[in-house]
Amino acid sequence: MAEKFKAPRGTFDVLPEQAAQRERLFRSAREIFGRSGYRGIITPDFEDTALFERGVGKSTDIVRKEMFTFEDKGGRSLTLRPEGTAPICRAYVEHGMHKLPQPVKLAYQGPFFRHERPQAGRYRQFNQIGAEAIGSDSPMADVEVITLLSDLIEEMGVPGVELQIGSLGSLEARAAYLEELKSHLRSRSEELSDDVNERIEINPLRAFDSDHPGTKVVMADAPHLLDHLDPADTEHFEEVKQLLNAASVEFTIDPTLVRGLDYYTRTIFSFVCDRLGAQSEIGGGGRYDGLIAQLGGPDTPAVGWAAGVERILLALDEEVEIPGGDLFIAIESADQRAKAVALASELRHHGMVVELDLAGRSMKGQLKHADRINSRFVLTLSPGEPARLREMATNQQQEVQPSEVLEQIRRT
Ligand code: AMP
Repeated sequence: MAEKFKAPRGTFDVLPEQAAQRERLFRSAREIFGRSGYRGIITPDFEDTALFERGVGKSTDIVRKEMFTFEDKGGRSLTLRPEGTAPICRAYVEHGMHKLPQPVKLAYQGPFFRHERPQAGRYRQFNQIGAEAIGSDSPMADVEVITLLSDLIEEMGVPGVELQIGSLGSLEARAAYLEELKSHLRSRSEELSDDVNERIEINPLRAFDSDHPGTKVVMADAPHLLDHLDPADTEHFEEVKQLLNAASVEFTIDPTLVRGLDYYTRTIFSFVCDRLGAQSEIGGGGRYDGLIAQLGGPDTPAVGWAAGVERILLALDEEVEIPGGDLFIAIESADQRAKAVALASELRHHGMVVELDLAGRSMKGQLKHADRINSRFVLTLSPGEPARLREMATNQQQEVQPSEVLEQIRRT
C-alpha cells in the first residue's frame, strides 16, 4: 500500500466541525473592527527577510531561531511572515499612507509561521487577528485598540482572561535604564541561563521572560523600567490607565511585562487566559512609535496588537454543532433527476439549504441519509405519484406541488 501522509509537524487541519466556531470569531472581529472604523488590509504571506530582521529585531527569538526563510530562484532571501506589524508598516510606507487622514486604522487576519517547538496552543503555522492604529500618539489610540481586543474576548465569551499592562517608555528614556539593568545582570551572570547571558548586551529585557530558575531569582531583585520612565512617558501611561477605567476595561499593572519583539515603546499589554496552561497569552501588543521611521517612513507613532485565533478557540473549547440543511430531495428513480436538480437549483437561489442524493442510494437509503445529515425536511419524488414533503422532527407528511415547497417550508 502507498504511504499515507500527515500534516507537517506543528501544523493542523481545520475540519468542518471546527470551522463554525472559527467563522463566528472572524465575524465578531469584523463587526467590532467595523464599529470603530478599522478597515481590512491583506499583505503577502511572505516578505523580504530583511524586513523582519530590521522590523522585529535581530536579537529576538523570532529572527534568531524561528523564521521559515528560503531563497527564491532569483537568489532573493524571503521569509514566511512570522508576524503582521512589520508587513503592515512596510505597506504604510510603500503606499504613502501618511498622506491619508491620520491615524490610519487597519485590521487583518491570516496565517503566520514560526519554527517553534510545537505544543498545545503553539504551532508552526497559526492564525492571528490583529489591529493597528498608525499615526496617532494619543493615549486614546492605545485605549481604542486595547478595547477592540477586550470587546472581542468578551463577545466570544472567552473565560478566565486578564489584561496586564506595562510601559517600556520611549527609546531614549529606556537607554539609561537598560544600562542599569545590564550591570545588574552582569554582576550576577553566573546565576543566569546561557541564553540570557548571551543577550545581556543586545536584549537584556528578555531576561524578565525567562523560565530559568536562576534567572528568575536574579530578576526578582532587578530594577523595574516602570520606576525609570521619564515624565512624558509616565503621563502617557497614567492617561492610558485613566481612559481604560473610563472605558470600563479592567486591567492589572505588571512592572515586569516585556514582549518578544524589539519595536515596542511606551504602552505594552497582554491578555492572558488561565485555561490555557503554558501558552497562556491570547493576544497582546503595544505602541511602536519608532518602527515606521525604522522602515524608511516619516516619524509616525503607532499602536496595535495581534491575537492568536487557535488560542481563543482552545480557551473556548467547544464545538458548534453544524446545523442541518432545510431540505433533502429524495428520488425514486433516475427519471426524476432533472426535476430534482431544477428544483434544488431554484430553491438554493432563494437562499434555502438544499441537498440531493449524489451517491445513487435507494429511496430507503436516501431517507436514512437525510436523517443523518439532519435535514429539516425531505421531499420525495416518485414517478406517477404526487410529491410528498415530510418534516423530519414531527414525521408529518403532506402532498405538495413542487412549486409550493418554498412557501410550505418557510411557513413551518
Ligand atoms: P506575538 O505576535 O508574538 O505578539 O503573538 C501574538 C499572539 O499570537 C499570541 O498572544 C498568541 O496568541 C499568538 N501566537 C504567537 N505565536 C504562536 C504560535 N506559535 N502558535 C499559536 N499562536 C501563537
